[in-house]
Amino acid sequence: MRIPRVVVVGAGPVGLTAALVLARSGVPVTVLEAGDGLAAESRASTFHPPSLEMLADLGVLAPLLDRGITSTTFQYRDRRTGPIADLDLSVLADDTAYPFRVQCEQSKLTPILLEALSAHPHAEVLFGQRVVGVDDLEGRPVVRTEAGRAFEAEWVIGADGASSAVRKATGAAFEGITYPERFLVVSTREDLEAALPGIAAVNYVFDPEEWLVLLRTPEHWRILFPTDPASPDEVETDPARVQSRLTGVADLGRDWDLLHASLYNVHQRVADRFRTGRVLLIGDAAHVNNPLGGMGMNSGLHDAVLVARALAPLIAHTGTVEELDAVLSARREVATSYVKAVTHDNWERLRESDEAARQAYHDELRALCADPVASRTYLRRTSMIDSLRPLSTP
Ligand SMILES: Cc1cc2nc3c(=O)[nH]c(=O)nc-3n(C[C@H](O)[C@H](O)[C@H](O)COP(=O)(O)OP(=O)(O)OC[C@H]3O[C@@H](n4cnc5c(N)ncnc54)[C@H](O)[C@@H]3O)c2cc1C
Repeated sequence: MRIPRVVVVGAGPVGLTAALVLARSGVPVTVLEAGDGLAAESRASTFHPPSLEMLADLGVLAPLLDRGITSTTFQYRDRRTGPIADLDLSVLADDTAYPFRVQCEQSKLTPILLEALSAHPHAEVLFGQRVVGVDDLEGRPVVRTEAGRAFEAEWVIGADGASSAVRKATGAAFEGITYPERFLVVSTREDLEAALPGIAAVNYVFDPEEWLVLLRTPEHWRILFPTDPASPDEVETDPARVQSRLTGVADLGRDWDLLHASLYNVHQRVADRFRTGRVLLIGDAAHVNNPLGGMGMNSGLHDAVLVARALAPLIAHTGTVEELDAVLSARREVATSYVKAVTHDNWERLRESDEAARQAYHDELRALCADPVASRTYLRRTSMIDSLRPLSTP
């Protein structure tokens, strides 16, 4: 039996990115994916500048740019009074080669990564392989699948999403909170720029009763709503109820052209450790957060690149486990002190009900826009550039 040096569990954006970094470093890698193909559902859809830099280094940015929308601004709005501030990412021109966001669903990145991996004969992606456990975590780990197959490896990377079987096998705790409200995501073919003139491709809409996020993707718009915790799922997804909420966003004088509506529970959780013996956790398997700010997939991509870049030299005997642990510890710190803090703060701001606090924050945002230095400081944080600073600066 050929023993891959690394088994990556999960062919989502994070697992495939880690596999590509390893493959490009010459490390034999096998990716095990439960699904019969890549996931097609619409989930994360914003790529921040540091992710664009990393994808460029991996040679996969050009096809993503071809499929996505480049957006140099995002907007804060008040549900009742309209635009508050348009933040301009071009003030980040000295901080990144990519001072913009790319709006594109994660399901468009994964086929690009898969194709890039296919150029490496020592990399393979096996579909229909649901992992159910990992044995001998401290020695040479063996990954077991539902179908009874066993894959031995030097190292295992769990990138199998929020319900990670690998995380469960390590016994790591996944503590945090579940938000009281489920989030309703609606996709529509309607032209929101016509319905709400002046909006940007990404819009955060403040309202104490019903905040919104309006996101453009290449083929449609997505609208994110909070839902009443006491209201059953079937009520919240009832088409008439969804239409009435959309009419509240913009009254088109008819029903909206609705593509898809789904409800999901949102959590903020971080695994208490990202390494157990020779088993590592990255992406949603290691940490989950609310989607306000688009940091989940992005921070997972950063985990993938940085952790794989530390693992490859360790396998080649030119790096140390202490160096790998330093990276894992920094990534855990980003998940707890940065991603969790920023996204939770976004949630609090969007729903703020104290009128004086609301107005003070709106004034702060207007002042930010008028001040390029303050704008740059603020945007370095929202664009996740600062999340990589401790690792990227000597
Ligand atoms: C409904 C929904 C909407 C979201 N919307 C947003 C958003 O708007 N903005 C945002 O920033 N983030 C959003 N997220 C979060 C974002 O999608 C994740 O942060 C991102 O997908 C993480 O990537 P990942 O590769 O770590 O995990 P995933 O994308 O979940 O990939 C995990 C992969 O592992 C596979 N897998 C799972 N279990 C096993 C197993 N036992 N064996 C083998 N393979 C397995 C899965 O099939 C999947 O292919 C959303 C998440 C959900 C669930």
